[in-house]
Order: sequence, then structure tokens, then C-alpha cells
Amino acid sequence: MKLFKGHEEIVEKNKELGPLTTFRLGGPAEYFARPQTEEQLSGILKRVAETELPIRVLGNGSNVLVSDKGVRGIVIQLDPKGFGHLSVTEDLVRAGASLGLSKLVRGAAAEHLTGLEPLIGIPGWVGGAVRMNAGGKFGDIGQVVERVKVMDTHGQTFYRERDDLAFGYRTSNISARFILEAEFRLSEDDERRIAKFMKAVWISKKNSQPMANRSAGCIFKNPRGLSAGALIDQAGLKGAKVGGAAVSRKHANYIVAGKGATARDVRELIEMIRTRVHERSETFLELELEVW
Ligand SMILES: Cc1cc2nc3c(=O)[nH]c(=O)nc-3n(C[C@H](O)[C@H](O)[C@H](O)COP(=O)(O)OP(=O)(O)OC[C@H]3O[C@@H](n4cnc5c(N)ncnc54)[C@H](O)[C@@H]3O)c2cc1C
Repeated sequence: MKLFKGHEEIVEKNKELGPLTTFRLGGPAEYFARPQTEEQLSGILKRVAETELPIRVLGNGSNVLVSDKGVRGIVIQLDPKGFGHLSVTEDLVRAGASLGLSKLVRGAAAEHLTGLEPLIGIPGWVGGAVRMNAGGKFGDIGQVVERVKVMDTHGQTFYRERDDLAFGYRTSNISARFILEAEFRLSEDDERRIAKFMKAVWISKKNSQPMANRSAGCIFKNPRGLSAGALIDQAGLKGAKVGGAAVSRKHANYIVAGKGATARDVRELIEMIRTRVHERSETFLELELEVW
């Protein structure tokens, strides 16, 4: 690995990505790096800058479908060992990009801070969640983001402040490639009220979504004023299958991967859903899932 000489401890070749995603599907990354510090990350980026290698960033892989053939270029996952920190100062919570959302929510709750409960049960990490403004009917992460520390592909770090950040439905205006850390401005509340809210969010999620299956959450965005799940259900597609991939019977906007499933099965099922929903409702479903 001449290209990454000196970085052999954190860069691997032909790393299988499937086990790093919640779908557990897909092939290897040509190169895979797991830096533990900002210096290691910028060092790798300097080497990549000398090449044409495409760069992808992986969080907990809970919104990504990797192609069976794998991906060309380098996939970079910030190691939770160096990017999984959490600290609380009064009503400000600072979290590393690779901290799991459950730890973030519980860490804030332990300090009697409210605002992050809508994220309970979402299996992502802070960086991916901020990038896509993860959330649901109880609220989104963007509502409480105060500041984000980012790094661009030249290895430069800088901050994006609240006033200059915009969050929409599963989108943000953060264009720098790496989110390194996020700060959240929360409010104090009664411990029991926070616990009750968390429980309500969790029960609602558990009752309506197939949390125990291999999936990537909702596959499609809800079209304005409509529910993608309801449109798929009305098209008679609950339980529809391609190979080992099936539309969940519990929530039609989830595709679950069963025995023998491939990423190709999921992609074909996605196309089948889009065609059938379009035929029935004249609505084109846009992907929430990111396909690599
Ligand atoms: C069972 C289940 C339930 C789910 N429920 C919900 C839900 O209720 N609401 C919801 O919004 N989502 C939900 N999801 C989807 C997913 O968990 C979220 O989108 C989550 O925020 C993705 O985070 P991640 O760390 O897994 O990111 P990944 O899937 O790894 O990446 C997602 C995107 O973020 C980028 N990214 C990741 N880390 C970084 C970083 N450090 N810096 C910059 N970019 C980065 C990636 O390049 C990619 O573009 C669910 C998924 C599952 C499997």
C-alpha cells in the first residue's frame, strides 16, 4: 500500500463494508480508513488529494446500502475511540461524530437536559444524524444543534454556527465532507418528564417499525403531505419480495433483508415499489436511503 505508507495501522485494502452497515449487505471498499485523531484524518486526506480516489464517509451505516460489487476509492469511518466523546457544560452538550445517538440522548438525560429525546431508537451516530437531520414525528436533531466542527477534504477544520446552519426534511446545508463534532443547546427539565418522553418515543417507534430486522430505516422520503409507507401499502406491496429482500409487513416504508439477500435484491425491490406506486398514485418516491 505505497499510497498510504506510514498510515498502514489505520488504512486497509479491500475491507468488507457489509458488516459495518445495518443492512449487512454489499461488497468491499477499495481502501478503508479508520482514523482516531484529526491529525490522522488530515494526513490521509493529504495522500488522497494526490490521487483521483473518490472519498465516502461512513457513520454507523444505518442509512446506506452498499453495492454487492463494493465501492471504488476510500471509505473513511471516524473511529469511535477518538471521535466518540461526550461532555456537558451547563445546558451545552458536546459530542464526537462517532458517538451513538442512544448514548447521546441518555447522556443528556442524565444531566436533566431535554431536547434530544426524539432521537431515541435511531441507530445512527452523531455525524450521520446531523448531516441528514435525523428525526421523526417528535422532532429532528437540527432543532437543537448549536455549532458543528467540520473538516474539508483539504484537511482544514472550521466551525459552522447556528445562524449559518439550515436543516430541512432529512437534509442540512453542511457541505464540508467531515463532521467531527456537534454541540447541542438543550433546556433543563424534570428527570421524570424526560424519562416519560423518551419512553413514549421508544414505544411509538417499537410499535410501528421493524426494529429487530436488518434494514436501513425508511427507504423513501415522505412526499409533501403524504406518507410513503401508506402509498406503498395502498399499492398492495406489504410483504412483496425480490430474492431475499422484502417490504416489511409492519411498516411498508422499510425493506428488510432476509436470508440470502443481496444489495441487488434491495435495489430491484426499490424500483418495483417506485413503479407500482407511480402507476397507482402518480407520485414519484424519492430515496431517503443512500445507495453506494
Ligand atoms: C431500524 C432503523 C430505524 C431508523 N429510524 C430512523 C428515524 O426514526 N429517523 C431517521 O431520521 N432515521 C432513521 N434511521 C436511519 C438512520 O439511522 C439515520 O439516518 C442516521 O442518522 C444515520 O446515521 P449513521 O451514523 O448510520 O450514518 P450513515 O448511514 O453511515 O451515513 C449517512 C450519511 O451521513 C454521512 N455521514 C456519516 N457520518 C458522517 C460524518 N461524520 N461526517 C459527515 N458525513 C457523515 C454519510 O456519508 C451518508 O451520507 C433508521 C435506521 C434503522 C436501521
